[in-house]
Amino acid sequence: MSAVSEDRAARHITRMQRKKDVIDARIAAADAERGLLLVLTGNGKGKSSSAFGMVARALGHGMRVAVAQFIKGRSDTGEEAFFRDRGVDWRVLGEGFTWETQNLERDIATAGRGWSQVREWLDDDTIDLVVLDELTYPLKYGWLALDTVLSDLRARPAMQHVVITGRAAPTGLCDAADTVSELQDVKHAFRAGIKAQRGIDL
Ligand code: ATP
Ligand code: MG
Repeated sequence: MSAVSEDRAARHITRMQRKKDVIDARIAAADAERGLLLVLTGNGKGKSSSAFGMVARALGHGMRVAVAQFIKGRSDTGEEAFFRDRGVDWRVLGEGFTWETQNLERDIATAGRGWSQVREWLDDDTIDLVVLDELTYPLKYGWLALDTVLSDLRARPAMQHVVITGRAAPTGLCDAADTVSELQDVKHAFRAGIKAQRGIDL
């Protein structure tokens, strides 16, 4: 004898069919196509690694990808080696964190130079995906003007996607974005005294 009664199985089919109709209608209605602005923010782990997941997807479709890292945390990450080998234009545009550089004028100049580089990508419609890793920090510290960044983003090619990561994304940036995810920090191994692990954290 089956564990599921005929009656229950029939109700399941009806319910799933109804669900499928609703989802199919939503998919059919979402027929627009354009370059998206995505923001991955919050204190939880997973912002940069999610962005690099999209880089892998884009490369799999033969798309051209450029990555800028605004805060140089470390120089030995697996993703940098992996994606450079696969033709990603990967630039480190920042130095250390502000408490490491301890020089405001230099931070502002570095961020400004970095943004000029990004602007070249935002002018180039052969680049399909641009990742601006940790861009929220120069915005938060006022090294880059949000207005300038937003107007350059608005002027980019219609089909170009841009992914921005970093904690504390400014409200204006989230308002301008099409997709915003906030990663929540439920738990992190670091707080249990475990150092950054290759393949997971770098
Ligand atoms: P990832 O690159 O792993 O996706 P992230 O981009 O969300 O992390 P960042 O703030 O850029 O987070 O931090 C990068 C490094 O700090 C990674 O090694 C990551 O594991 C670690 N990290 C991220 N979130 C936390 C946290 N809440 N507590 C401690 N360490 C963290
Ligand atoms: Mg990150």
